[in-house]
Amino acid sequence: MPHPLHHYVNGQRREGGSGRFGDVFDPATGAVTARVPLASSDEVAQAVDAASAAFPDWAATTPPNRARVMFRFRELLERRADDLARIIVSEHGKALSDARGEVARGLEVVEFACGIPHLLKGEHSMNVGRGVDSWTECAPLGVAAGITPFNFPAMVPLWMFPVALACGNTFVLKPSERDPSASLLLAELLRQAGLPDGAFNVVHGDKAAVDALLDEPRVQAVSFVGSTPIAEYVYARGCAAGKRVQALGGAKNHMVVLPDADLDGAVSALLGAGYGSAGERCMAISVAVCVGEATADALVERLAPKVAALRIGPGCEDPEMGPLVTAAHRDKVRGHVDAGVAEGATLVVDGRACAVEGHDGGFFLGGCLFDRVTPSMRLYREEIFGPVLCVVRVPDLESALELVNGHEYGNGTAVFTRDGGAAREFAHRVQAGMVGINVPIPVPMAFHSFGGWKRSLFGPLHVHGPDGVRFYTRLKTITARWPEGERRAEFVMPTMG
Ligand code: NAD
Repeated sequence: MPHPLHHYVNGQRREGGSGRFGDVFDPATGAVTARVPLASSDEVAQAVDAASAAFPDWAATTPPNRARVMFRFRELLERRADDLARIIVSEHGKALSDARGEVARGLEVVEFACGIPHLLKGEHSMNVGRGVDSWTECAPLGVAAGITPFNFPAMVPLWMFPVALACGNTFVLKPSERDPSASLLLAELLRQAGLPDGAFNVVHGDKAAVDALLDEPRVQAVSFVGSTPIAEYVYARGCAAGKRVQALGGAKNHMVVLPDADLDGAVSALLGAGYGSAGERCMAISVAVCVGEATADALVERLAPKVAALRIGPGCEDPEMGPLVTAAHRDKVRGHVDAGVAEGATLVVDGRACAVEGHDGGFFLGGCLFDRVTPSMRLYREEIFGPVLCVVRVPDLESALELVNGHEYGNGTAVFTRDGGAAREFAHRVQAGMVGINVPIPVPMAFHSFGGWKRSLFGPLHVHGPDGVRFYTRLKTITARWPEGERRAEFVMPTMG
């Protein structure tokens, strides 16, 4: 029997009251394992009530004391990392070691949040005028909301709420309804760490819950991560309601391989970055841009047998690649492969017939490798978000740059070469938010910020790192004079001279 999940509001479990539920699957077997309640706007309002009520006290808690909660949360998270990873595997399907890696990357953001008092110090100028001092403070915003995707059910929420909370905000998380359980363990660990009731809340749901958060006047800021059409919608609707919004969208990440690259290194990088987590990563490499026919021929020859031999199985057995998240998503990805064949691309490795013994109901798809893909093909233009890698052949670095820069997405990109000058040229001219030089997945550490360019990010600020602190605080600049003796009224514009 699927077990019922609950919301988490004001430090307590709340049963779903809308009468609407979604199915949560084990992607390795296809079985429905849980039922997730889908919140109504009233239920969202109750979570915002709790977060609003908790805000004044939490904002008044000193930054070091807020950081101490984060230190305790960090300890608990490290202790329960394996449980969290297993929950991720059971609902997302990714390999266990990959899920452990996800938790580790989330933990880094908590570590960053432990040091946030250092970034809340503001700035001070003495004697901006005679006897006048001026300083800038970083004030929290109020209630912040996070709306997150299925592919990193722990790490992406962890990009957001540790920073928001350490800055003095309270938080309402609306996780993906496809793998909602990780967020409930995170809520429990925050409670054990001593976070006051109401400061962190989880409401599950779909579009109705998202719209309720976007329209809710007490929500001051919205962080969104998901597909580009929804990111654009969330950005427009949230901004129209007067909120600050950062909305991270989809991707089509190109890895450029120059003729002088270490080809075996490039092949290994493509295998991990293209097929790890079954391609369900916003930083997955989905296009290999080979400079020169000889580079492409050699790369495809070495890569194809490795793609065909990928070890595929249930995530709990720690394969190289697990199943896709749902049957619907698997069928969508397979549809892209069918369309690519119809468009005339060469399907060098066809994973469509993949079967995993003893897991007939699982949502598995084998690795697919296309060669001779051209920029006009749907296969090239659209985000597929599955284990499908496309090889595009170009004559030189200039055409590679033109290709990457011409794509509507600009999340991550990489160049593989031994030529420092070429790498430097690429890094400076390429239009993407995160660039790797012989590093296929250049995900910034938590003390830098993460975000893309073009239609991979709506809004000016990236997540976590310094931009995260900017996003979750607003500046107040105070100018003070302590008068000595009597002063005459001044009718001219104060110049502080
Ligand atoms: P999604 O856009 O379907 O869902 C994201 C969130 O939006 C979920 O919480 C979902 O409930 C909600 N949502 C879905 N449809 C909605 C609607 N019509 N109105 C309002 N809200 C809605 O994304 P997904 O399939 O869960 O995740 C995969 C996508 O996320 C990919 O496109 C991937 O590239 C992207 N992603 C981007 C980054 C990044 O950093 N740029 C990171 C992870 C994932």
